[in-house]
Amino acid sequence: MVAEVPEPPRGPTARSVHPLPGAQELSVTTSRPTLRAVPDTPIPDPGVDTFDRPGEACGVFGFLGSPGADAARLTYFGLFALQHRGQESAGIAVSDGDTMTVYKDLGLVAKVFDETTLAGLPGHVAVGHNRYSTTGSSVWENSQPVFRTVGANGVALAHNGNLTNTTELAAAVGPVSATTDSELMTAAIVEAMHRNDGSLASAMAEALPRLRGAFTIAVMDRSHLVGARDPHGFRPLSLGRAQDGWVLASETAALDIVGARFVRDVEPGEMVVIDEHGVQSHFPFAAGESRLCLFEFVYFARPDSNLFGQNVHGARFRMGSMLATQAPADGDVVVPVPESGIPAAQGYAQASGIPYSDGLVKNRYVGRTFIEPAQSMRDRGIRMKLNPVAHALAGRRVVLVDDSIVRGSTTKQLIKMVRDAGAVEVHLRISSPPYRWPCFYGMDTGDRSTLLAADRTVEEIADFLDVDSLAYLDLDNLIEATGAPGDGFCTACLSGDYPTEVPLEDSKYILERS
Ligand code: SF4
Repeated sequence: MVAEVPEPPRGPTARSVHPLPGAQELSVTTSRPTLRAVPDTPIPDPGVDTFDRPGEACGVFGFLGSPGADAARLTYFGLFALQHRGQESAGIAVSDGDTMTVYKDLGLVAKVFDETTLAGLPGHVAVGHNRYSTTGSSVWENSQPVFRTVGANGVALAHNGNLTNTTELAAAVGPVSATTDSELMTAAIVEAMHRNDGSLASAMAEALPRLRGAFTIAVMDRSHLVGARDPHGFRPLSLGRAQDGWVLASETAALDIVGARFVRDVEPGEMVVIDEHGVQSHFPFAAGESRLCLFEFVYFARPDSNLFGQNVHGARFRMGSMLATQAPADGDVVVPVPESGIPAAQGYAQASGIPYSDGLVKNRYVGRTFIEPAQSMRDRGIRMKLNPVAHALAGRRVVLVDDSIVRGSTTKQLIKMVRDAGAVEVHLRISSPPYRWPCFYGMDTGDRSTLLAADRTVEEIADFLDVDSLAYLDLDNLIEATGAPGDGFCTACLSGDYPTEVPLEDSKYILERS
């Protein structure tokens, strides 16, 4: 018997269906333009987001409930809560114990899924993924969960992070259809399943130690859900308990939103195997030191999430307070760069005693899906995304607070806009140190030559941006402000101190150009 798959109601979609044992495999792909990148063809590199910050990480989510539970719907809401971590594609894989179904497409969660598509995803086990590309182009073939059949079973994998031994792994596991490290990882797990009597947990325990770099993954077969973090735990993953099942999520805010209770973080180097009998913990790697991405606290994670047991909004507020003490400014008003600069600006205002004002208004509906305007309008640049409130800025000495600067071009436009709105002075305060080195662990910042602070002093950056003064929060203060200074952070993009060997010559398109 082959599972019935309702035809998608609209737009280009694709799915693969794993049938019951003995049945003929069915794979359906509706016609759609192929966007596969061609070697030597310029590939658009979104790199830094519309507000001059690093491209987000991905979001992963998993659920295993009692038979009959609607895992797809719960996962949909989980992905919705994690939308900020990736806006290029969204996907959900489900299993009812016999049949696995995967549905994914380019776009936001709300665009990819609707009532009809969710109704076509029956099952009590699920993994979901929001993608921001850090290896491979933003094309349908690279969207996740990655799905592979293994005999009568199947494997679906959702990955956040970036491997640093992609070339080596590609040579070892052979060609794969997509151009992502996640596809290679899935191939390595499937290869190991063939050697381990089809056991997903045993296969992952064998395959994961072959991986280097950053990987937080949620993986499922027909009846198991497995979550794992690399030995340094670059990317977060939390375990939660819902009324009728177990949840894995990149951030605790997603647990809150689906009504799950936070149980604990999955430890660096830990693999949790969840099935109908409960949760088992394994440590398949040699012990590594915790190196959670410090930028999760600075910018990536939602303010209502907790990392290392510390609330992210509270940490950002403290960053601003410490910045006010470390780098005071003579100003009349503290203005945040919305939205992630808001908590730090609030902290700066409270510690300095300078009044706080929302002097910039963000168009909330501008995101990564924003259609770039025609050239004539593009000249208006950042105004499409942020608009100044002249009433709050005119005639004032403005202390402008942001969390980070990556390339600087958008920040430069922003400073000009604040001056044009009548500010008499602009004092820029950044609640993290200069971003000087590229990330190899799942943040897309482009190569080092594109980073504003790579080879410039703070004075040179101030000149370039045309500000009256500029100061960055010191690294020690930043770590102190997280509230978890002893728990172990990656600081590589700020300090140049990479916790692992990194492939300096690799780009995100490594599997497309070879
Ligand atoms: S290099 Fe920076 S962005 Fe990348 S994981 Fe380390 S702290 Fe995070």
